[in-house]
Amino acid sequence: MSKGRRPDDTIVFEDNGLSHSVPVYRFGSGSPRVLITAGLHGGEVTGQYVAFRLIASLSGLRHDPSGEILVLPRCNPSAFRRLARTSPFDELDMNRIFPGDARGTPTQALAAEIWGLAQEADYIVDLHCAGPFSAPYTLAQYEEYPHCRELAARLDIPVIVQSGGSEGQLFVEAGARGTAAVIIELPGGGPEGILDLSVADDTEAALRRMLQSLDVLDGDVPAPNPRFLGPLERITASTEGLYLPQRVPGEVLARGESPGLLDDEPLEACPEGYLIMNRPPGYVFPGSSLAAVAPLVESP
Ligand SMILES: [Zn+2]
Repeated sequence: MSKGRRPDDTIVFEDNGLSHSVPVYRFGSGSPRVLITAGLHGGEVTGQYVAFRLIASLSGLRHDPSGEILVLPRCNPSAFRRLARTSPFDELDMNRIFPGDARGTPTQALAAEIWGLAQEADYIVDLHCAGPFSAPYTLAQYEEYPHCRELAARLDIPVIVQSGGSEGQLFVEAGARGTAAVIIELPGGGPEGILDLSVADDTEAALRRMLQSLDVLDGDVPAPNPRFLGPLERITASTEGLYLPQRVPGEVLARGESPGLLDDEPLEACPEGYLIMNRPPGYVFPGSSLAAVAPLVESP
């Protein structure tokens, strides 16, 4: 991946026989500053692939951007190596510990380095994966923060889901400090490290158009028209049985409509809204994750 261009910088952590290094790619200088991160969760590979594709495409620019674009395509290399959410060094979830701790564990120290770059950014887009069966969506605290809503609306991703926000998430901590910060959740990831190439292409194009709309890259683009949705509601199995999905992610479920059948019966009390995720056919058990729906809301 991206063998053509070497990183402009590397964040290195070495301690007591442990080491990891995070490549940093820098395009242009000055303001605004746009930070694009991927792979805070190591197994979420579609986001990392998008970031490497973006690096390749920005490397072909004929002149520098108006402002600075910083891309960190693989923020958690030791977690990536085992295609897992966390690093084997300390098992900490990197996206719950920002602003990090320079004198802490390997993941805390790496988070502190990334936070240092985040503090200088005007815009942050953090790329993640929501599992192989998800539709793509932007995740933002758009109700709380107009600056985050404004950035989310520049992304040509079909829907924007309101985030509950957890303490220590990069986009939450940055958003609370006044930086426009969002997540893009993409299909892919999981223990097999699955990539969704077609969504990755669309997402890389959406990032470039976002950079054009910010006047960081040349070219006029029409404003996208993403749909604003409420927070995700997850649907789990109440009994053991055979689940057969009947709807596909990206469809809208009417009130009372079930995304699939569990032992030939529709699921009860399903929320109405945009179907974000629906698992493939399989035997499931009480508590198994089946689907996720985000309610439609009036555009804020
Ligand atoms: Zn993630």
